[in-house]
Amino acid sequence: MSDESTTYDRTGCFVAGCPLPGSMATSTNGSSQWFCHMHHGAPATSWADITARVSNRLPLLEAARRLSNLPPRTAVPSAIVQAFEASGRGAMLLVDGKRVPARTAGRHAMGVLEKEIRTPGQQQALETVKAAMASGFRSMGELIAESEEIGA
Ligand SMILES: [Zn+2]
Repeated sequence: MSDESTTYDRTGCFVAGCPLPGSMATSTNGSSQWFCHMHHGAPATSWADITARVSNRLPLLEAARRLSNLPPRTAVPSAIVQAFEASGRGAMLLVDGKRVPARTAGRHAMGVLEKEIRTPGQQQALETVKAAMASGFRSMGELIAESEEIGA
C-alpha cells in the first residue's frame, strides 16, 4: 500500500451519500473517480440500494475493518464475539464453523458483508443489524481500540 501521498484518506466514495472512503479508482475520460470497494464496478442503477445497505451495516463494517487490522494471531476480543452473537451475526466471525484469529475473522466478515451489500435482494439481516445498533453495537470501535492497547 503506497497511499500515504495520495488523497486516499480524504477522498470519499464518488457516490453521493456513501459513508465509505474511496479506495478504488475508475478512470473515465482521463479523470479518475474514486469508489469504495462496495460501489466499485457496480451499475449506477444499484448505487442507492448499495448505499442504503452500507449505511445499515456501518458498525459491522467498521468492526470487520478494525479486526482485519489487529496484529497477527490476535484472538477476536470476547466482547466483539458477544456483540456479533447478540446481533445474530456470530457466524460471520467463524470460518468453517471454527474460531479464527481476528484478522482472518475480520476479512471473512468483510467478505460476508460485501456479498450482502453488493447482491440485490439481501435485506434479511436488516432487522438484526438495527437491533444490534440499538443495543450498543456502536461502542464496538471503542472495544476494539481497548483490545488493541491490551494486545500491544
Ligand atoms: Zn461507496
